[in-house]
Amino acid sequence: MTEYDNLRHQGLRKRLVDGLKIKGIRDENVLAAIGKVPRHLFMESSFLNFAYKDQAFPIGAGQTISQPYTVAVQSSLLQVEKNDKILEVGTGSGYQAAVLLEMSAKVLTIERQKELFQKVQSFLPEIGYHPVCFFGDGYEGLPAFAPFDKILVTAGATSVPPALKEQLKVGGRMVIPVGKENRQEMMVIIRISEKEFKTEKHGGFVFVPLLKGTVNF
Ligand code: SAH
Repeated sequence: MTEYDNLRHQGLRKRLVDGLKIKGIRDENVLAAIGKVPRHLFMESSFLNFAYKDQAFPIGAGQTISQPYTVAVQSSLLQVEKNDKILEVGTGSGYQAAVLLEMSAKVLTIERQKELFQKVQSFLPEIGYHPVCFFGDGYEGLPAFAPFDKILVTAGATSVPPALKEQLKVGGRMVIPVGKENRQEMMVIIRISEKEFKTEKHGGFVFVPLLKGTVNF
């Protein structure tokens, strides 16, 4: 991988991490993980120069790779611990999944657009990342693999999908942006018992929408 990830990329990444610290990201594991994942490999080559700017970018199929700050906030709120079994809804470019894998989590990730699913499934192993990738509607979660220690939704939901709440372990955390199309509130949902959930709010963000069903091309 070294030839694809040179000193210049590493230097730019260090600057990105320094910028995230200034913006208030404190979780050392998250900062270290973002410092390791070669984000430029997740983007179209025409955007290579932007790979380490703190911005979202198009990845095809009308979707975006999340802004590093957003990835950092969501990953911090998830409070990732080693060997956590994490469900990610919205694989997209696979960048967020790679960040979670760098934190020694087990990652199962689901994408509703076949084109993106296929791309990530072949690309991530090539650069040494091995999540389990699924093509399907993340609104339904992955009941056959539940329960999960953590659930991370990387698309904006209009409400919290009931199936995802059911698939959370007692003591587990779900991070999910919830709201209208142009602004969502970052919510953390903690399952405190079989029947009780606690909800925290962590500020406004803008995500592409969480949509039902799948796209088969
Ligand atoms: N985590 C991604 C961000 C992707 S943007 C990354 O690191 O690049 C959100 C993604 O969620 C898009 O790829 C979109 O197709 C996907 N998505 C939207 N609704 C979905 C659903 N119901 N199930 C699975 N994926 C969904």
